[in-house]
Amino acid sequence: MNHFDLTGRVAVVTGGNGGIGLGMTGGLAKAGAAVAIVGRNAAKSEAAAEGLRQSGARVLTIDADLMQPGACRDVVDRTADHFGRLDILVNNAGIAIRKAPEAYTEEEWHRVLDGNLTSAFLCSQAAYPHMKRIGGGKIISIGSLMSQMGASFAVAYAASKGGIVQMTRALATAWGRDNIQVNALLPGWIETDLTAGARREVPGLAEKVETRTPAGRWGRPEDFEAITVMLSGPGSQYITGTAIMVDGGYSIQA
Ligand code: NDP
Repeated sequence: MNHFDLTGRVAVVTGGNGGIGLGMTGGLAKAGAAVAIVGRNAAKSEAAAEGLRQSGARVLTIDADLMQPGACRDVVDRTADHFGRLDILVNNAGIAIRKAPEAYTEEEWHRVLDGNLTSAFLCSQAAYPHMKRIGGGKIISIGSLMSQMGASFAVAYAASKGGIVQMTRALATAWGRDNIQVNALLPGWIETDLTAGARREVPGLAEKVETRTPAGRWGRPEDFEAITVMLSGPGSQYITGTAIMVDGGYSIQA
């Protein structure tokens, strides 16, 4: 058995049109999976899909705002309808609002929690019957360093990403007997649109990350290709409920 061959498998990647999600999508496509990319920006999704199709990948784009009622079920069902099955769900879509806790509005709190955590739960719930029907599946959700650490500007973000880890453990226990493995990846500081503002605006951040990270650099979306394939393939059948740091060692540096 080739543990890293995803030929015939079907994946849906939320936020797969850019940043870390596109890195994960690229890994899945190179390993042979057909992939549905979900995003709000149709032009960005189409550009990402076109790049992948040029290498022969089967890619569907779905324009959706996962915070709208029914959107998660719709994108999951459309992926399964289009490709005939669903094997892999990547819950990657996420947003950040950088602000002091005392300045947060209730609406902002709910926007971050709904965008990062509730959507991941609802997509997982929608994926379950499709995976059960074919005898198993893989769910990978994206947490953060903030799943385990705090930051003064990230109260709602940290709460949502801590929730991703606990949701992962709960789903892994619930669906283990259905042969559905549920894991989380916790990225460190990765160069994407999400961190572009922080890289520009937070004084000293760019240098601090380089200095503190044992790998000596910021992470890149491509750093998520191989781990995604591993957690999506037949070789990770006995790995479930984990949260794996992908941070160049940032979190273990004293
Ligand atoms: P990007 O901003 O580059 O990508 C975010 C993606 O999520 C986009 O594709 C965006 O699509 C999509 N998205 C956001 N909200 C919605 C929504 N409501 N409905 C549908 N799609 C949505 O960020 P990253 O690649 O950096 O982040 C990806 C994940 O990784 C996030 O969960 C983030 O919290 C996490 N992360 C990132 C880190 C980093 O250093 N970059 C560190 C730790 C965690 P569109 O553009 O079409 O709206």
